[in-house]
Amino acid sequence: MRVVITGAASGIGRAVAELLAAQDEPHQMLLTDRDEEGVNAVVAAIGAGARAHVGDLSSVDCGRDIVAAAVDHMGGIDGVVSNAGIISSAPLVEQTVDQFDRVYAINTRATWLLGQAAQPYLAQSRGAFVATASMSATQPTPGLGFYSSSKAALLMLMRQCALEWGPDGIRCNTVSPGPTYTPMTQAGYDDPDRRAQRESMIPLGKLGMAEDVANAIIFLLGPQAGHISGVDILVDGGMSSNLMPATGGGTGQKASK
Ligand code: NAD
Repeated sequence: MRVVITGAASGIGRAVAELLAAQDEPHQMLLTDRDEEGVNAVVAAIGAGARAHVGDLSSVDCGRDIVAAAVDHMGGIDGVVSNAGIISSAPLVEQTVDQFDRVYAINTRATWLLGQAAQPYLAQSRGAFVATASMSATQPTPGLGFYSSSKAALLMLMRQCALEWGPDGIRCNTVSPGPTYTPMTQAGYDDPDRRAQRESMIPLGKLGMAEDVANAIIFLLGPQAGHISGVDILVDGGMSSNLMPATGGGTGQKASK
């Protein structure tokens, strides 16, 4: 496959690139990130077939620039992984217009710009478009109002892409991680109490790892997901099914006869 991955210097994007590179089938990849040193290190570790691209997804030219670099490197595109995202952590009453614009530009607009620029190439290859959303897209999250709402918009944007580009053979899907241990979150989860508290809310009893999310993205990119479009795969260890408080079992009421 010829694959574009954003946010490829770190965390989930890096894991997608590394897991693809470890497959028997050779892949070509355009790995893009604003972190030049980080993305160059991933390309150096992967070796043949990968090329680094440095750019900021808050730019309105990001989609055009990334697709031009991808076509120059690979001659076409079979898969796009729009994965990069940022958090802006503050109550809504304290947030600013600049923060709103920045979070939505990176978490939502960049996926549209990238998809729009890649669409003719994905139509040629009858390829796949996958975006990394979040469990927060469907669960309001304390202190992350811009993040959760930008990811909710991303979910619908990708379903809309699935509707509009399906006739061209392009499959469009999202993966929504729950709490996942990556450089984005590790400062918080390296605190054992905080980690234990979070893990106690996850039925599988542990944080996700970047590879857990990357495996779902790779599934959606590949032929095994050949008839799947317009869906969101939650990779959250079951956390979103755990809304009722843990009471030790049952309701405490006697069963009616
Ligand atoms: P990460 O911080 O490890 O990686 C994100 C990468 O995106 C970094 O390499 C960063 O340099 C790049 N990036 C950020 N802003 C950019 C910009 N403006 N231009 C270009 N590159 C930019 O984080 P991660 O945990 O791997 O996150 C990947 C995706 O998963 C994000 O969309 C995030 O919202 C989502 N997500 C993560 C978690 C989690 O718990 N880690 C949970 C839900 C969703």
